[in-house]
Amino acid sequence: MRTDELTQERIARNDARFRSANEQIEKAAERYEVGDVPIPFLCECADISCRQVIRMSLDSYEEVRSDGRAFLNAPGHEDGAADVTETVAQRDGYTIVRKINHAGEVAERLDPRREEAPSRAQEEGR
Ligand SMILES: [Zn+2]
Repeated sequence: MRTDELTQERIARNDARFRSANEQIEKAAERYEVGDVPIPFLCECADISCRQVIRMSLDSYEEVRSDGRAFLNAPGHEDGAADVTETVAQRDGYTIVRKINHAGEVAERLDPRREEAPSRAQEEGR
């Protein structure tokens, strides 16, 4: 079954909200110079009631955030939006997923870092 565009948009917007929250968490962690201590980030899956916390280093989170369409999920949570998401990597304690189709476009448009790195968005514009 294919998820219609409106639903894809809703999923992407919801996930982007958690991504924005994580962005704030990351900024706070950088401000306090926490170093290599694992930071509690929020699961960015499609389930609006999900409040799962994923602890990971700033560097690991940066890897996820290097792609405007990529999101951080707790293991197994990517199944909730299987047709608008592809799994990029399974790591210890978390999964990196990438939004595809319309959800991917919305996710990229809502990327808070998009302005900072326009060249990357262009590269992937294809
Ligand atoms: Zn989740």
